[in-house]
Amino acid sequence: MTSQRIDVGILGATGMVGQQFVRQLAAHPWFRPAWLAASERSEGRAYADAAMWRLSSPRPDGVGELRVDACTPGRGPQLVFSALDAAAAGEIEPAFARAGHIVISNARSYRMDPLVPLVIPEVNADHLALIPAQRGERGWTGAIVTNPNCSTVVLSMALAPLRRFGLRSVLVTTLQAVSGAGYPGVPSLDILGNVIPGIAGEEEKIESETQKILGTLQAGTLAPHPVVVSAQTTRVPVVDGHTETIAVSLEKTPSIEEVIHALRSFRGRPQELGLPSAPADPIVWLDAPDRPQPRLDAERGGGMTVTVGRVRACPVQGVKFVALGHNTIRGAAGAAVLNAELMQADGWLQRT
Ligand code: NAP
Repeated sequence: MTSQRIDVGILGATGMVGQQFVRQLAAHPWFRPAWLAASERSEGRAYADAAMWRLSSPRPDGVGELRVDACTPGRGPQLVFSALDAAAAGEIEPAFARAGHIVISNARSYRMDPLVPLVIPEVNADHLALIPAQRGERGWTGAIVTNPNCSTVVLSMALAPLRRFGLRSVLVTTLQAVSGAGYPGVPSLDILGNVIPGIAGEEEKIESETQKILGTLQAGTLAPHPVVVSAQTTRVPVVDGHTETIAVSLEKTPSIEEVIHALRSFRGRPQELGLPSAPADPIVWLDAPDRPQPRLDAERGGGMTVTVGRVRACPVQGVKFVALGHNTIRGAAGAAVLNAELMQADGWLQRT
């Protein structure tokens, strides 16, 4: 697609998600991590000193020597990924968009803004069409594009192929990994051998973001999908991979085989375009009665595949199943990188 790699920046490069960005982008065929930024605690330090490397694969060569900059608009490349803490993202991201940067953000701050696309490229690539209205309304030459909360992405991907049957209501219970809480996250004495029933703000995000993602653009305005979602969240002693038990009520009455076929045959624009981070199969269905499991299945498709299993009849809702996705890859950095690839392939990075 591009002969030369495009320089990109990472806001919040020292955090858990920031490190995933560094890892994903270091080997990326189109993008090159050239500028790393974080808080004043890290400013001026070599990345190797500012960011205690927490990922299981080694820190990529060449980034440890980069100096961490402040999150000052105008200093970094035009395209910046944001792994900022939400409290910081609220002010910093619009300042970057105003200064002409395209900000591809993981933070929750602008996900539900009606003019900000909340995108899963396989599900709602067309929502990028909100960008001109965002620019017009805010007077920005750049833009903000977001990816969903790490639990929402798993749920929305699993529901997207079922839209053809008419989504009525969804009951979802999450079993979320500790890496989703950042570093150092949940104290070990709280989580080891334990389950914590509730994650602040998470249930509301899953319920509202899913409706936005599955919604449709009508005359330039986003109409949320009417599906009603009821979420319960739990934190479990798992390192990576959010598991979700999902029960769905549908308007039509497909057989279990038809539901499995819809999930397995699901493809989107990233697969059509052959984007570098796109898994060949966005959803993989496993027949085994004890799958998916985070330890065995979270890394499937480079962490970009959602694995589904145990699809069966539900006496209350009609259909139920289990879904699993990697929370810091498909649920964070990988999702944002895929958004940027889609924007590059569809010409949005050139239209600034
Ligand atoms: P984290 O480990 O706490 O990292 C936060 C990053 O933000 C660090 O680089 C930190 O820099 C920087 N930062 C904090 N305050 C700042 C300020 N005032 N100015 C500039 N930079 C500042 O958090 P995380 O887990 O990586 O999460 C990052 C974002 O992604 C959050 O918005 C989170 O909700 C979202 N997210 C996380 C996950 C997940 O699975 N972890 C999934 C989806 C979305 P210093 O190192 O210099 O302090």
